[in-house]
Amino acid sequence: MSTAIAEKGLEKAVVRIGNIEIGGEKPVIIAGPCAVESREQITEIAQLVKEAGADMLRGGAYKPRSSPYSFQGLKEKGLAYLAKARELIGLPIVTEVTCVRKLEFVANYANMLQVGARNMQNFDLLTAIGEETDVPVLLKRGLSASLDEFCNSAEYIAKGRKERDVEPNIVLCLRGVRISHNRQRCKSDYHELPDLRKMTNYPVIFDPSHAVGNGRSRNESELIREQIVNAAKAALRAGVDGLIVEVYPNALELAKCDAHQQLSIPQFREIVEYAMTPANQRERYLSSKTEPLW
Ligand code: PEP
Ligand code: MN
Repeated sequence: MSTAIAEKGLEKAVVRIGNIEIGGEKPVIIAGPCAVESREQITEIAQLVKEAGADMLRGGAYKPRSSPYSFQGLKEKGLAYLAKARELIGLPIVTEVTCVRKLEFVANYANMLQVGARNMQNFDLLTAIGEETDVPVLLKRGLSASLDEFCNSAEYIAKGRKERDVEPNIVLCLRGVRISHNRQRCKSDYHELPDLRKMTNYPVIFDPSHAVGNGRSRNESELIREQIVNAAKAALRAGVDGLIVEVYPNALELAKCDAHQQLSIPQFREIVEYAMTPANQRERYLSSKTEPLW
């Protein structure tokens, strides 16, 4: 059983990144492309998502792809472009660290370290993050991980920090779980939020982009994007502390990965407007207090 479960009854944790509070009163919106592809691309998208209301910028420099022949990210150059976009646009950045070897390097750039679904049980990486860094972490749910496994993975990070009297600074990210056919990659899991809340006091955000997932044709892509917008709204209604959303104008023509699931700016704006509407915020707040049934 994870420590977080044993410590149930703790106040809900708030993770602070500058003046952004994840787990505070307002939902936090993280947006940006799946991958950093060039300096111009990440800077332009940073500007657009900031104008549309994003609090933080996402973008992968290291991309753990299912196929070794797919675009693997710009790596060190990608991190430098992210840092430049932060400097120019002023949004803090969340980016993925894929292995212990790169941890120190990525931690020097990131305002929040992302641990991807495929690495949720990379215990060496989780332990190193806990023992060697204080940077806030976005831990994504493994592709077929139970909630208990998810919470225990968070504790691998928390343990090393607690032993050094450092806040765990962990945000959990529901990002869908695997289903058995290919049309959608995954199945949304925001409905598991009340159960997860019972097991942990860390803030929980939702990634509708990977939860709903890629389509394979232009027609499917439109439908997938609509479903991503709907899933984002539904997760807010269910009480999540924020969203991480892939946004990339003209992704179908340009994107080197996840082209079918990256939202346009108007679609992203629709989510932000929904999130910021007072009545919806009130509903989100009430849901976040809902007790699970068991
Ligand atoms: C991502 O957010 O870039 C990503 C690869 O997501 P996941 O690890 O959830 O598949
Ligand atoms: Mn992606």
